[in-house]
Amino acid sequence: MWNRELETISRKDLEALQTKKLKTAMEAAAKTTYYSGVFRENGIDPAKITTLDHLKDLPFATKNDLRLSYPDGMVAVPRSEIVRMHASSGTTGKSTVIFYTMNDINAWADLLARSMVATGTTRDDVFQNMMGYGLFTGGLGLHYGAERLGCMVIPSASGNSIRQIQLMQDFGTTVIHITPSYALHLVEEIRNRGIDPRGLKVKKAYLGAEPYSEATRDKIQDQWDMEAYNSYGLSELNGPGVAFDCAHRCGMHLWEDCYYMEVINPETGERLPEGEEGELVLTHLNREAMPMLRYRTRDLTRVIPEPCKCGRTHRRIERIKGRTDDMFIIGGVNVFPSQIETVLMDVPEVGNNYQIVLEREGGLDRIHIKVELRSEMFQGDLRDLDRLKKRIVEQLRSLIVVTARIELLEPGSLPPSTGKAVRVVDNRKI
Ligand code: ADP
Ligand code: ZN
Repeated sequence: MWNRELETISRKDLEALQTKKLKTAMEAAAKTTYYSGVFRENGIDPAKITTLDHLKDLPFATKNDLRLSYPDGMVAVPRSEIVRMHASSGTTGKSTVIFYTMNDINAWADLLARSMVATGTTRDDVFQNMMGYGLFTGGLGLHYGAERLGCMVIPSASGNSIRQIQLMQDFGTTVIHITPSYALHLVEEIRNRGIDPRGLKVKKAYLGAEPYSEATRDKIQDQWDMEAYNSYGLSELNGPGVAFDCAHRCGMHLWEDCYYMEVINPETGERLPEGEEGELVLTHLNREAMPMLRYRTRDLTRVIPEPCKCGRTHRRIERIKGRTDDMFIIGGVNVFPSQIETVLMDVPEVGNNYQIVLEREGGLDRIHIKVELRSEMFQGDLRDLDRLKKRIVEQLRSLIVVTARIELLEPGSLPPSTGKAVRVVDNRKI
């Protein structure tokens, strides 16, 4: 372990530590324009929030609050203390901006070194970081963590598949950091060049930045012949390193000495009992530059209350099902893209990319799913494709009441993704 004492701390001591840190977090928050306004408007005395339970009295912070307080309404330190800024990807609108002091950067790198060690990575590994560098937190976040751990880091960033392959071959990359959609695309590029991906030295991948299903993880592990670890984080709470799979890969440990978590009913905002699925709400317990209290992540998950076999006491969260705003309603039924992905990726003939297009024809919702198949599928009988189409429609039926129109495509037909994939195109004019 990277920090055995902290990672195996007893639940009681962990709670005491969180409570102690909460005090500092409240003091920092009171220095910001945003939180001082929130405290004033709600008649809250921050000095009176002394237990984790008191946090319930604070209103949630949302992405919109960050947007409104742009650029520096949430900053708690003088500009001279800030050493870096990042921004979110802007998947759901205008990007939000995050600031860090040197202590913040160090604490973040430490969490990532801890996460990487939890997966069994050591200083002997060669780590190729295929996430976007720059304002996006995915690149530099793991970069600093891997350096802290002592890996050799190849900062290859995302895209440019030919160069990625060359680097993996020439420098014997053992660990990669990549989005699941790019992992599926890159493995095809590798095979298209006549290289057997299973012959590369890559033994591990950290997959994150976008929702994906367990079936997709299996597919990636199988095609690359490696182990895939789920990595979760969001810019508003530093970036990656909020929660990470350990070697057992059975849910991600959320690093509770730095983040206090709540799971709420996204409609009512009420706290849910442990183990129920809802929206994750996070409080950063030790950020200097930009305190963050009760941030609504919009990500849906549940806490796995049972202790993990690895001995770490920090609770695990389940794979993120999607964002509350990813959900679409088709024919009156709520559907998450990840549910469709689970069905598709369980069909052995299905290849590595798909897209969901929503349309409205004559007042009715239609769903059109474009699916790439494995290349072998186009060498056989056309009637096989027809049968396959029917099978996919049938398997989707339990999920979506309207009949899906399925279009089967050859590999490489859909726009490839090198970063966060766009899975749903909604053409309905509502
Ligand atoms: P944006 O919110 O604009 O996409 P970020 O780059 O901060 O900006 O992305 C963070 C979001 O990415 C998370 O809130 C979550 O929705 C998604 N995400 C990150 N890691 C994972 C993961 N392992 N599984 C599912 N979703 C993830
Ligand atoms: Zn574990």
